[in-house]
Amino acid sequence: MPLHINTPVISTPLAAMAGRSVFLKLDLLQPSGSFKMRGVGHFCATKLAQGATRFVSSSGGNAGLAVATAGAALGVPVLVFVPETTSARAIHLIRETGASVTVGGANWAEANTAALAKLEAGDAFVHPFDHPLLWEGHASLVDELVLQIPKPDVIVCSVGGGGLLCGIVEGLRRNNWGEVAIVAVETKGAACYAAAIECGHPVDVAPISTLATSLGAPTVCEQALAYSREHNIISLVIDDRAAVKGSMALLTQHRLLTEPACGASIAALWSDVDVLNKAKTVAVVVCGGVGTTAEQLLAWSADLGA
Ligand SMILES: *Cc1c(COP(=O)(O)O)cnc(C)c1O
Repeated sequence: MPLHINTPVISTPLAAMAGRSVFLKLDLLQPSGSFKMRGVGHFCATKLAQGATRFVSSSGGNAGLAVATAGAALGVPVLVFVPETTSARAIHLIRETGASVTVGGANWAEANTAALAKLEAGDAFVHPFDHPLLWEGHASLVDELVLQIPKPDVIVCSVGGGGLLCGIVEGLRRNNWGEVAIVAVETKGAACYAAAIECGHPVDVAPISTLATSLGAPTVCEQALAYSREHNIISLVIDDRAAVKGSMALLTQHRLLTEPACGASIAALWSDVDVLNKAKTVAVVVCGGVGTTAEQLLAWSADLGA
């Protein structure tokens, strides 16, 4: 049995205009609070079948929580290495699943190095975005979509390290929806996909500076860049204020709480992108995230006038 759930789709009046319908794929409802459950669940179940006895992650964010949730469901111990910058709340959420958390390193790269150095026989290391099993798992989102809505002209998703984007391309291809365009959204201060497209190779955009911390991968994976040459993907970079506004819209219109990393995809609907302006049907991946409390979102909204 898969560890993720089939999520509902709702139609939204947000940014719908004459002749354009907008659908929201509600992956914030996944057991771990984000789409990451799909790929991570598939990865962990596959590694368990191959004999893994422990799952190791280096993410204090939604990826780490997805690994911890998968381990609890499969009865496999989980060890998560997180940097010192990780919030007490994130550590608490991960520990609540029964996973062990080791805090160390000034940033994700250092925590990741520590995790890799401590791997033992039987451990499966779960990368947050760069592995074919993750993309194969994320692709289930499109398998569901083809049964839920008419073929959209565009799918909108957020991009951190590009795992979700790769999964969506894979899902579109395996469902014969290969001509559906994708708008790939990042925030300023974390725009490693836009930078890779511009330079023709993945580049390190550290230091990351954005409220959308779940989009803060320093470099995008090679596969995401390769897909930008094969698929109609439009890269879009917005600011934090727009991303917060997107999350606020989900909160006030639909009573849904998300991170700005997810609000960014909603904000894309209000931006001036040709394929979105012309689209009759748009699907937005509401990727979710547990890192933002309602209080935090309201405070950012007040600060930024969003
Ligand atoms: C991980 C994550 C992203 C980015 O996904 P990538 O696969 O790294 O591109 C976006 N939004 C949320 C809420 C996430 O947890």
